[in-house]
Amino acid sequence: MDPLLAISDLSVTFATDRGHVQALDGVSLDLVAGETLAIVGESGSGKSVTALSVLGLLGDSGQVKTGKIEFEGEDLTKVPASRLREIRGNQIAFIFQEPMSSLNPVLTIGTQVAEPIWLHHKKSWPEAIAEAGKLLAKVAIPDAEQRLEDYPHQFSGGMRQRVMIAMALACQPRLIIADEPTTALDVTVQAQILSLLKNLTKELGSSLILITHDLGVVARYADKVAVMYGGRIVETASALDLYKNPKHPYTNGLMASIPKLDGDPGSRLFTIEGQPPDLSDLPAGCAFHPRCPHAHEACRAGKPPLRSVAPNHELACFGYD
Ligand code: ADP
Ligand code: MG
Repeated sequence: MDPLLAISDLSVTFATDRGHVQALDGVSLDLVAGETLAIVGESGSGKSVTALSVLGLLGDSGQVKTGKIEFEGEDLTKVPASRLREIRGNQIAFIFQEPMSSLNPVLTIGTQVAEPIWLHHKKSWPEAIAEAGKLLAKVAIPDAEQRLEDYPHQFSGGMRQRVMIAMALACQPRLIIADEPTTALDVTVQAQILSLLKNLTKELGSSLILITHDLGVVARYADKVAVMYGGRIVETASALDLYKNPKHPYTNGLMASIPKLDGDPGSRLFTIEGQPPDLSDLPAGCAFHPRCPHAHEACRAGKPPLRSVAPNHELACFGYD
């Protein structure tokens, strides 16, 4: 099957007063229709920049230096801003971490959910409002129709995130990108929202990119996983394979820091020693080497390329015994 989205060798820099920051360095990813890809990594690893690149939302200081972002065969790094806006409204939807910053506080929820339907589907306003009510019911908002008249501040954090999902689904996009959609929410609500997102995406036949810093949540929701570190992808595999057989020392570290339900309640969680790298001042060689318990000479000398190590399993590591 042709990929829906194929990112190849994507490098992105930002101009800052401290000089150029290389936020992404040769990122390659793809996903086919209907697939869920999780992008996992600590804060500052380049997850959001990857997502923003897809939609051309890097801002004035960001620049794609190399690479392609092909969406249904069209290279999004080459298309004009007007075409990107069209794609953003129709084919690719975004869900951000903080719904309050994406919702307009002075407009009712109904108005905000109905607007994209009215705009993109050329429906009458009453039809769009009716559709919005159905969507809110679909994302399991109790008394959906009555709540169309409410304002964002009358909704809880979890309910606002459900509204964001409803808005993302409104245009029946081919791809939904959710950037840490549940980070601000408590664990139970988090699980409900992720299940909802996953089920509705499946129902629509859309693809989903789920960005998270929590490897613990991806197993249940993702088909495959890309682990990022220092602006590069260090490992990709099916979610199952990654859990059973993580190969990168960084992935192993993330895995060891997931709380276990059956773990000893008194035991301390494992944390990876050291700090995530500063992208404006990356170490030579593999960016992970200063924190890697297995680093050797080759790791300090050059960057390990991402290469296939098993079927559907890629690794960027010089290896260790
Ligand atoms: P995360 O994995 O936490 O989502 P980001 O993709 O947001 O990380 O950012 C990765 C790095 O890229 C940041 O640590 C920062 O160094 C750099 N960066 C991101 N956005 C900008 C920007 N607008 N200007 C300058 N640097 C940026
Ligand atoms: Mg981010």
